[in-house]
Amino acid sequence: MKKRFLLLLCFLTLHTVFAQNNDPVIDNIVKEATENSQLQPLGHELMDLIGPRLVGTPQMKKAHDWAVAKYASWGIPARNEAYGEWRGWERGITHIDMIHPRVQSLRGTQLAWNPGTSKQGVTAEVIILPTVKDSLEFVRWLPNVKGKLVLIDMLEPTGRPDYNWEEFATEASFAKMKEEREQQTTAWRDNLKRMGYSSRTLPAALEAAGAAGIVTSNWSNGFGVNKIFSARTKKIPTVDLELEDYGMLYRLAQSGHTPKLNVVALSKELGVVPTFNTIAEIKGSEKPEEYIILSAHFDSWDGGTGATDNGTGTLIMMEAMRLLKKYYPNPKRTILAGHWGSEEQGLNGSRAFVEDHPEIVANVQAVFNQDNGTGRVVRLSGGGFLHAYDYLSSWLEPVPDRITDGIETTFPGTPARGGSDYASFQAAGAPAFSLSSLNWSYWNYTWHTNRDTYDKIIFDDVRDNVILTAILAYMASEDPDTTSREKSILPVSSRTGEQLEWPEPKSPNRRGGLDEGN
Ligand SMILES: [Zn+2]
Repeated sequence: MKKRFLLLLCFLTLHTVFAQNNDPVIDNIVKEATENSQLQPLGHELMDLIGPRLVGTPQMKKAHDWAVAKYASWGIPARNEAYGEWRGWERGITHIDMIHPRVQSLRGTQLAWNPGTSKQGVTAEVIILPTVKDSLEFVRWLPNVKGKLVLIDMLEPTGRPDYNWEEFATEASFAKMKEEREQQTTAWRDNLKRMGYSSRTLPAALEAAGAAGIVTSNWSNGFGVNKIFSARTKKIPTVDLELEDYGMLYRLAQSGHTPKLNVVALSKELGVVPTFNTIAEIKGSEKPEEYIILSAHFDSWDGGTGATDNGTGTLIMMEAMRLLKKYYPNPKRTILAGHWGSEEQGLNGSRAFVEDHPEIVANVQAVFNQDNGTGRVVRLSGGGFLHAYDYLSSWLEPVPDRITDGIETTFPGTPARGGSDYASFQAAGAPAFSLSSLNWSYWNYTWHTNRDTYDKIIFDDVRDNVILTAILAYMASEDPDTTSREKSILPVSSRTGEQLEWPEPKSPNRRGGLDEGN
């Protein structure tokens, strides 16, 4: 009898522990995310097969259709919501060869929305910018660009990133390099100012003066990385070369060896095309009119394949939705995934959604957005919502310790003024939070670069982010209370000395890349 009683007591204790920490929904989410992760096949299909997702390109549309089909295969209804239009463009082959003083194929690519060349391409000499006294002298020099490919970026004094110098250089030599580079950079900027242009306005002036093309090198301060944004020319090609090749051309031009290139940069103009958000939905059973939104922009720049910006955010939300549908198919509240278009040009997709769906935004229980790389989540801010601590900390409670131990929280925090799509929701007063990642050299190595590719994904970290996101969505959905939207009093700005105000919602660009100035 005594023995039996003891056993029963043991069982009860174990059971209590089990009940506190092991909600079957949470157990299943953790188990499936760990043992049957779909992140790698999803990542392969999205990054390797579909490729980069620049707004207005056929690849972007393909990605939207792929997501809808993928959700359908998991039994989750999803739709592409059109919200505007963009200049349609498709990247073709870029091939850049030096043909004089010797032959070498160069590493580079045309910029986004580059006006394409013919199949034969442009064959022309390379010219560098002069040092001028004033804009008059520059105007007198300008006719020299006629028929030439103009190098418009500074010659970098070193192709080694600073961390490499720090590791191997003598202190004196590292200090000397930095000082010389700073002087050179200042002199370059001052010279541009004397010309009367900025790096944004110069390409159009060179085009008007008859240049055959523009060559840039937007080095991203790491080995082999350049940032690839959009062309600012209307008819002549703009290509970006990696630092090593750009430097070689620059030095050859400087030493009077008149390097010559053949630039083939094919692309297609596709007229005006619609822009979309992909919205997936698991309908709520008790409070279907209240929403949890899993948010990650779907578009990318196209120098790489948009793996960490924002392929990984996309994968997190898709995989979390798959797990939720499988183990929590009848949520109390409606769970949406928002895969926004054209974030990169100004949060356009999410701003459009906020503007077009006031009934949803007014009833948001929580938005969880992820958009700063492949790392595990290490920061979570209350976004300026006064009572965010109460609900966020209770939702975090059942998340495995090894995940929450690494997360630094800030309450109440302040609302964002841009940066990513949660800002669109915060501006409208909806409790929206950024799941902010560990850096993994994001800013230099992958953000908007030619090296933002599948191989940079840290699948272990992304998998933990899936577990975190799915549990937060589950807990937010189950919460007996609707979240408070009360805003905290924002601090006084140290810059202006004035009290910060809550950001206002902004309208999206619903017709992009089409009008002058875009
Ligand atoms: Zn992004």
